[in-house]
Amino acid sequence: MNPIRLYYIIGYPRSGTTLLGNVIGSMPEYIHVGEISRVWKTGEKSEIPDRRCGCIKMIPECDFWVPVMQESFEQVKSETGEEIDNFRLARIRDRIIYEKPVNDSDKELFTLFTGIFYRKIQEHSHADLIVDSSKDLSYAKFLESTGLFDITYIHIVRHIGGVGLSRQKKLKKETSGGKVKLNYKYFLYDLLNWVYMNRKISIFGKGKKYHRISYDEFTFRPKELLMDKLDNDLSKIFVNDHTFSSRNLHTVMGNRNRFKKGEIEIRKDRRWEKQLNGRDKALANFFNKFA
Ligand SMILES: [Zn+2]
Repeated sequence: MNPIRLYYIIGYPRSGTTLLGNVIGSMPEYIHVGEISRVWKTGEKSEIPDRRCGCIKMIPECDFWVPVMQESFEQVKSETGEEIDNFRLARIRDRIIYEKPVNDSDKELFTLFTGIFYRKIQEHSHADLIVDSSKDLSYAKFLESTGLFDITYIHIVRHIGGVGLSRQKKLKKETSGGKVKLNYKYFLYDLLNWVYMNRKISIFGKGKKYHRISYDEFTFRPKELLMDKLDNDLSKIFVNDHTFSSRNLHTVMGNRNRFKKGEIEIRKDRRWEKQLNGRDKALANFFNKFA
């Protein structure tokens, strides 16, 4: 059987992986599936609140995912997919230190299922290429280990100032005089993980089909950058240098920008430079060199 063609978008959380997937996945011959490594957590009993597919329906009601999942589960004789998830839970999470030990039969089942599942996605979408924005390095390593895929890795790296501020806003921490003051405990957490993950991904990409993209540059000149780095044909999804025509239907998990359809403008995103106070901005610029 031919290998399954995959663009795998990889990077630290809050680095624009979903947006990049939406743009590339708008190619008529491709399908963007979102953070598909987390799809098992979107079933009826899931505790994750955002269980909606990009088509707005709940995943267990989506016209695309229901047949893909049912047919895949049938082939491995699983009722709910819960046992399939054992391996993913043990290994497919990026952590600095801790990894749970893996049971070989769990890995075997997950590998078998993965092959069937991605082929079902191809079959039901008629796409030549799957854009997967699962973003984790551990999942990328797993996909590669199956030998079933022809993978191009697209590594997106966002300025640590933007990454750091994105978390702080989520937590709604300390603001004064309209400027955001970093909470250093969270910033340090992000900084260490961001340096570690981005370096690890760069090393992983050596000798592979691998492209490193700066998120900041991507929001500044999206069309040109993607044509330079990936494929000239990507020009056809853009209506001008900054606006693309989105056709992302069935994305799982990831940023809420995946629900937007139609013509979408990508704006230069350097808000953090204006929003952080002077000292924190200098700090972010200093540490940005380390990834
Ligand atoms: Zn859907």
